[in-house]
Amino acid sequence: SVRVRYAPSPTGLQHIGGVRTALFNYFFARSQGGSFILRVEDTDRTRYSDEALQDLYDTFQWLGILWDEGPDVGGDFGPYVQSERFDLYREYANKLLESGHAYRCYCTAERLEELRKSQKKATGYDRRCRELSSEEEKRLAAELKSRGQEPVIRFKIPLEGSTSFSDEIMGTITRKNKDINPDPVILKGDGFPTYHLANVVDDHLMEITHILRAQEWIPSGPLHVLLYEAFGWEPPKYCHLPMVMGKDGQKLSKRHGSTSVREFRTEGYLPEALVNYVSLLGWSYDDSREFFTREELEELFSLEKLNKAPGVFDYKKLAWFNGQYIRQTEDGELKEALIPFLVRDGIVSDPPTEDERRIIDNFIPLVKPRLKTLGEIGPLVRFLFQDVEPEDPEIAVPKKLDLAGTIEVLEAGRELISRLDSLGDEEMEEQFRAGAEKLEVKLGDMMGPVRVGLTGSTVSPPLIESCRLIGTDESLRRIDRLIA
Ligand code: GLU
Repeated sequence: SVRVRYAPSPTGLQHIGGVRTALFNYFFARSQGGSFILRVEDTDRTRYSDEALQDLYDTFQWLGILWDEGPDVGGDFGPYVQSERFDLYREYANKLLESGHAYRCYCTAERLEELRKSQKKATGYDRRCRELSSEEEKRLAAELKSRGQEPVIRFKIPLEGSTSFSDEIMGTITRKNKDINPDPVILKGDGFPTYHLANVVDDHLMEITHILRAQEWIPSGPLHVLLYEAFGWEPPKYCHLPMVMGKDGQKLSKRHGSTSVREFRTEGYLPEALVNYVSLLGWSYDDSREFFTREELEELFSLEKLNKAPGVFDYKKLAWFNGQYIRQTEDGELKEALIPFLVRDGIVSDPPTEDERRIIDNFIPLVKPRLKTLGEIGPLVRFLFQDVEPEDPEIAVPKKLDLAGTIEVLEAGRELISRLDSLGDEEMEEQFRAGAEKLEVKLGDMMGPVRVGLTGSTVSPPLIESCRLIGTDESLRRIDRLIA
């Protein structure tokens, strides 16, 4: 049965591209009744970070994506952390030495450095240690030892011929062996494996059937296939996923905006919206359908529907998507989701008091149709909890009006709001319209200054409902203050 894995190196925060890889693996496993495995590739200890590992767990827990096997849940093919498997890699590197597919390289760090410098184009290792006589080997080993260095193990890339593998999306990919990095290191002097060895050994031992990973790994494909051949193993099926890029056609990066899931979470994206949106980056069910629940994706995902063309990450579209998910969220649930953001912005206490909860209940129906992200809530509703003055009273003056005109509008608005208790929402709105006509201003300019008086801002939930939430007396007081 299908076995797939997500194999991140914990060196940074989980990136949207990595999460896309994980999701496609996960959905593929589910759609095939297979297993989804997490394997932590932490062999590069210089780039490893604990924070990154914690972020990996936090991110997927928040997204609600669970693996069937992994460091935290166990499984029959563990350990699932590469740093706990070093004995295995040594054992398999030795197998390649014995079968003549690999050799010890005694070149000193200094020699390699010189070699690098002497090359006009980076052509890589010159294979000096590939065919040593036993005397030469002894001599070089002793020399290396005297410098306090250990030999590495290099894999023998065949000098002639070519290597192919077939990719589910890209078709057959062929590379001349002479163009492959000459004899890459598979085991370092300190006994640490390099990515290639550890990755291949683990995918084989963990019985991985399909490798779904980012396109940037295509160049490693031929080397991996040669390693499988050298071990006498059958390679898994490969499927390199289309790139994720910004609207400018460049690989998605900080320049475009947020890239880590943690950032999106902090901005107030919902996990369901993010999962849905990310699943459309390089995959489509048909030409039109965009909304999928996780359960639907678990059923409908298929490799055939992956695109060759890169997925374009559109921040505006994601925000719109998130808004749609907010509208679908049940009021009680939305309230609980918003509270942490209100606490964060210092608007309610942690936990909110009964009074604060009542205010939240009241504004939910007003903000639900408007929010794109949960993080927008603070500035939008602060005025309901605290008296807020505009930072700059000038913002109360609409473009088309001067100060006198604005005061006129405010006074008319004040008069209307003093009748708030006796008029319904629609009547109030009509009154505002009539008032605007009489003063020969637009409705927006009629309401704008009042809004600033009330909320300290030019954007807010609907004005009349907002007045009702803070009460007639308080509304009038705030307008009077702005007039004064
Ligand atoms: N550890 C590699 C990464 O960080 C895994 C690549 C692969 O899937 O083979 O992406």
